[in-house]
Amino acid sequence: MMIMKRDATDEDIKRVIREIKVHGLKADVSRGDFRTVIGLVGDESKVPFDNFAIMPGVKEVVKIETPYKLISREYGRAADGLSGASKTIDIGNIHIGNGEPIIMAGPCAVENKKQLFMIAEAIKKAGAHILRGGIFKPRSSVHSFQGVGGSDRKSAEQALKWMRDAGKEYGLPVVTEVRGEDHVDLAAEYVDILQIGSRNMYNQDLLAKVGKKNKPVLLKRHFGAGIEEFLSFADYIAAEGNKDIILCERGIVPVGKGKEYTRYTLDLAAVPVIKKETYLPIIIDPSHSTGRRDLIFSMSCAAIAAGADGLMIEVHYNPQEAIVDGRQTITPGELQDIIKACRKIHSLVKPGVYA
Ligand code: PEP
Ligand code: MN
Repeated sequence: MMIMKRDATDEDIKRVIREIKVHGLKADVSRGDFRTVIGLVGDESKVPFDNFAIMPGVKEVVKIETPYKLISREYGRAADGLSGASKTIDIGNIHIGNGEPIIMAGPCAVENKKQLFMIAEAIKKAGAHILRGGIFKPRSSVHSFQGVGGSDRKSAEQALKWMRDAGKEYGLPVVTEVRGEDHVDLAAEYVDILQIGSRNMYNQDLLAKVGKKNKPVLLKRHFGAGIEEFLSFADYIAAEGNKDIILCERGIVPVGKGKEYTRYTLDLAAVPVIKKETYLPIIIDPSHSTGRRDLIFSMSCAAIAAGADGLMIEVHYNPQEAIVDGRQTITPGELQDIIKACRKIHSLVKPGVYA
């Protein structure tokens, strides 16, 4: 990154950007409160860093050693003049990061309008902030329900309208997963947050596509990805200019043979680690990580104690009836108890949470 002097002129900044482009790279311009920092995006192996260091307006050229650069705390700190503040993502009057834990709740899969509206009303009453619901479902078998949007574009658009309308009706921003590049433009018309599912964390083209949108992105960690890999792929979104990224830990592949007790292994230490490494908010999904409704309460409490900025929880008014993931789905009443407990825990741990 090129750290510009406090008194660098616009012309100085433009000159550096032009020079970066000459070398075939893109410039990521971060105008902080105190100074401008220009990050390099692309293959930097042939960049003559020494030449940049002596350009007018350039204070210092600093090499960020991690493979994720644009979302790194080091980069954010440079732009913000050492305050190192974490990012808050604002969606209407909901603020994700640096404050009250934000609870995203709703069905695994949107099934029909009535189901969605009933759940939206119930989670709002329980104290949730954001409505979730899958319209394009990633499924292990082509023979199972692919989500209402899985069949054709018309049904997908219809379901997206239900989401938008349910959100409006109950005052809840909405989030849905985009499974493929084709879904992005359509979904972005109706939802407030675009979710990239675990299986797509490695899909560079999809990440680049949502990175070009002016919408917050919820990126779920792949169940086989290390933390460094997870953050590196988040940089593909940031590299397109979109830094409104909410990271989500949703469990990694469990060890051991035979009958597993949990669907995945919830990596709670990822929360404080990621908070040290990046300025982005991180939330926990206790539903997919455990696969068990009887563990959602304890893992939600643990996540907030670990400093998570929020939770994503699968909720249905009748979990037994849910077409997808009923075993890990809780009732609105249980959600309410979790939210109450999490508020208390948050008020206790807040001073110790890295921000
Ligand atoms: C989901 O949140 O709907 C989902 C499918 O989760 P994941 O991508 O983490 O498996
Ligand atoms: Mn699910």
